[in-house]
Amino acid sequence: MTPTKLYCDFFGHNYQVSKRVTNHVNEYTCKCCKKQLTTNSNGKLTELTPKFQEINQALERIYNNRTMRLKQKSLSSSIY
Ligand SMILES: [Zn+2]
Repeated sequence: MTPTKLYCDFFGHNYQVSKRVTNHVNEYTCKCCKKQLTTNSNGKLTELTPKFQEINQALERIYNNRTMRLKQKSLSSSIY
């Protein structure tokens, strides 16, 4: 067991947002042991498994497409 792991077990993980996926979904990384978490569909934190990474990538794509469309819409409506 590494000292950082022991620290996390003892004091808890020191999570920081490492990626913003959508308004409601973030990915978190522990500054000490690099363990990763993400927000799941229930709004709870869960371990960032490869499956969740896939889901988040899909979510991010959908989210970016939508915000891009919204921006274009507001841009074109401001012309008139
Ligand atoms: Zn940790």
